[in-house]
Amino acid sequence: MMQRAGVTLTLPLLALALTHVAAQPPHANGTSSRTTWLDAYREPAGRLIGEAVSSTFAWQRLSVLTDTIGNRLSGTPALDRAIEWAVSEMKRDGLENVRTERVMVPRWVRGAESADVVEPVKHPMAMLGLGNSVGTAREGVRGEVLVVRSFEELDAKSTLARGRIVCFNAPFTNYGETVRFRSAGPSRAASYGAVAMLVRSVGPDGLRTPHTGALQYSNDTSRIPAAAIASEDADRLQRMTDRGDRVVVQLRMEAHFEPDVESANVIGEIRGREKPDEVVVVSGHLDSWDVGAGATDDGGGCVVTWEALRLMKALNLRPRRTVRVVLWTNEENGGRGGLAYRDQHRSELSQHVLMLESDGGVFRPTGFGFSGSDRARETVRTIATLLAGIGANQVTTGGGGADIGPSVQEGHIPGMSLDVDGSKYFLIHHTQADTIDKIDPVEMAKCAAAVAVMAYVVADLPRRLGE
Ligand SMILES: [Zn+2]
Repeated sequence: MMQRAGVTLTLPLLALALTHVAAQPPHANGTSSRTTWLDAYREPAGRLIGEAVSSTFAWQRLSVLTDTIGNRLSGTPALDRAIEWAVSEMKRDGLENVRTERVMVPRWVRGAESADVVEPVKHPMAMLGLGNSVGTAREGVRGEVLVVRSFEELDAKSTLARGRIVCFNAPFTNYGETVRFRSAGPSRAASYGAVAMLVRSVGPDGLRTPHTGALQYSNDTSRIPAAAIASEDADRLQRMTDRGDRVVVQLRMEAHFEPDVESANVIGEIRGREKPDEVVVVSGHLDSWDVGAGATDDGGGCVVTWEALRLMKALNLRPRRTVRVVLWTNEENGGRGGLAYRDQHRSELSQHVLMLESDGGVFRPTGFGFSGSDRARETVRTIATLLAGIGANQVTTGGGGADIGPSVQEGHIPGMSLDVDGSKYFLIHHTQADTIDKIDPVEMAKCAAAVAVMAYVVADLPRRLGE
């Protein structure tokens, strides 16, 4: 997508947004008290939306992160630079209590890598080693390929797997269904004696683009090297073996772990004017994979949630409770940032009113996923009517995120995700193509507006959400 001139496009949008927030909400249960409390939020919601969509500030900020720092794998100097940059920018925004909270993170290093068909023809494949994989010996690992489409097919052909390189070639349906071949495939193959594993990239067919992502070894099998290959290469292996060709692949990977290193979650706040100890958290993860620029996953989520606070500050809106932005470290290959927050904030988890994570891209927002009590959900649905003008008023069941998960679970805290049009997300997910040009500045501004309105109103409710 092209970046568009902010002003020409956003002014009609702003008018549309203001028209809609001025309309009566579709009353959920028709009580007049509900309408009354919501009425008090129409004006600030309109201002937050207007401020967000009248500039391309969020997109510009993300472009600075992704152009001048780039991708940010845990334990890299790039992630350290991103953390320093976020701290100084948050201070420049005038946020309060800007700080880092120390987290020890794993340092996995990819190194050089390749996967080549060497028989019956030479053919270098488009590949990316899987995160947390072990490497190969310097000369690589060589073996005949066994291609299977499912775990069931591997079980049926288990006697053929010994000494071979198993390739899982399951076409992408949705992430949840196909990611298991990436995460559990290496150990399933190893349990039958395979020497390495290849997986068809977890994503819709792209233009010969491999997708990385983490694997999870089980403890009871040997750890074999594993890599993702582009769908085109997986299909080629499939066709050749279906014809009865003996296909030999040579996999070379320098992947290894180095000792854990220090990293941090970044935190900034707008302190509440009446109940500063009660907290609404909005968040994204600052780390990314080591390919592409970490724009969609999840630099965009960091910036739009952080925007919620910047917009409140810019408009001098201070809600009753504290709004806290958290930029998590190490979501992609360890989840240590979310675990550390739970441990470091254990004594105040009961004071957390809501935790939101944006980690599904910052495309056209549709609303929110929500997990919590029915009563809280009803309130959230009512607040979301303020976002009808930008199309972000749907509230679906089940909201959360990998980083807020540990705190949400332990503290029984309502969890929320920002929901967006997901049609493009998995095309670029964990690839070299995760760059900012895939993100539209106007759609991104609407994401920021949606998070800002939801966070502001929940933080300002006369009674705590759910009560
Ligand atoms: Zn992510």
